[in-house]
Amino acid sequence: MAITQFGKRVQTQSDKEIYFISDYRELDIKKVVISDGLILDYADKEACYSFLKLIRSSFIESIYLVPVFILSLNDDIDEFTKALSDGVVKSLSEETFEGSFHMIDQRIKQLQTSDTNDLVIRIQNKVLRYYYTRQKRIAPITSVKSHTGYTYALLSLHYQNANTEDMFKILDELETKEYVRPRYEDIVHLCSNCYSAFINYREVCSKCGSSDLYMENLIHHFVCAKVGPESDFITGNQMVCPKCNKLLHHIGVDYDKPSLVYTCNNCGHHSQESVMQAACFNCNTVQSVDALIDRKINNYELTVLGEEAAIGGLAPEERKDAELTGFVGFSTFNIFLKYEIERIKATGKVSSIGVLALRTPSAVSSNLGVKYQSVIIEIADFIKNATLATDILSFINNNTFLIVSPDNDKLRLESTLKNIQQSVQKLLNSNIEEASITVKIKALTIDNSREHNDLINDILTTNQTV
Ligand SMILES: [Zn+2]
Ligand SMILES: [Zn+2]
Ligand SMILES: [Zn+2]
Repeated sequence: MAITQFGKRVQTQSDKEIYFISDYRELDIKKVVISDGLILDYADKEACYSFLKLIRSSFIESIYLVPVFILSLNDDIDEFTKALSDGVVKSLSEETFEGSFHMIDQRIKQLQTSDTNDLVIRIQNKVLRYYYTRQKRIAPITSVKSHTGYTYALLSLHYQNANTEDMFKILDELETKEYVRPRYEDIVHLCSNCYSAFINYREVCSKCGSSDLYMENLIHHFVCAKVGPESDFITGNQMVCPKCNKLLHHIGVDYDKPSLVYTCNNCGHHSQESVMQAACFNCNTVQSVDALIDRKINNYELTVLGEEAAIGGLAPEERKDAELTGFVGFSTFNIFLKYEIERIKATGKVSSIGVLALRTPSAVSSNLGVKYQSVIIEIADFIKNATLATDILSFINNNTFLIVSPDNDKLRLESTLKNIQQSVQKLLNSNIEEASITVKIKALTIDNSREHNDLINDILTTNQTV
């Protein structure tokens, strides 16, 4: 078999196919799919890095998600290589990587098939799945090669410096959809034209705009109240007031230095105020400091909703909305929930929120394909008919139905959900052979004690336990 050309099989207790690669010549990236994990030799740093980049920039899930460890006896691994790997090991023995490997492997198995041609959705899906399976935060790393001074290792594989704005949009969108939660790390000031942080800040003459300035202290002589540039006071190695000719001895006693004064070497203009300008080294745009883009650099973690999305896979929203009439998108659902909480605060009434989620092993949903979609539509219809006209319904992540039931308490919603659960389970069992799909439900009270994020997280969390 061709396996011999793809590194060396590492001895493991399990039947896992883990390969050690030290010769990067003529490696076929497609062979990554035959492996359960890789260990890359860092002895040839450049080749190791290039191959790792090739793996992580793939759009094929069985390639980009593969656990990759770096073998190095030293700790001098470059940050970017480290960020794209699943850890550094010092030997090929199983116990050095089995813990991380097992965790990633288990999480990869939970993922359901998802398929879309929409590039933005594919990248978002990839980001969610990659970080979900790693249980890692989407952390920025500093890099002089990056336009903004910071980079997100995985995302940067899909965005050149010129597309920095698009990269930020992906993160912002994930945040708006509440798939990720940001934690502030730093702020960068970026060129308004090209998003570069490589900027020359300089003071310029407020009259002619030249940056050729001479800057000195302003001297204020207390006795005669003369104020002027320091150079006007200097005579030899003494300071003498040009107005009253007295010697200046002690700062704070005879005189002080209230501020700086700028003299323009180009036009001779004196001024106490300079204008700060920002010139971009990348695109040469000269702009005022106020015009720069302030961009927060965040470190993100997946929310429970994000983890759900990672497992179920993202699909373009238009498609879902079109398929399920009577259901609102998740962002609209969130707005309804916020209003409902406000209304409850004002009226003192009680409402409830509920969930009905399908737990489908990935092998089953991929075998079902189109049939899964038609079963979903049937279930959606059933739920619509079994709930009240005033209930707000949403469908997310291809497997989870959410319900807000105004003025209904938790117990009542729970019993409605139980009835639906039984019927849906029957429907599934009769439609799908060897039906291993299970139906989970949960209901919570919406009162004035909790915010919508909290409720959403709670309702989705328990539902995640298998
Ligand atoms: Zn000037
Ligand atoms: Zn004086
Ligand atoms: Zn620029």
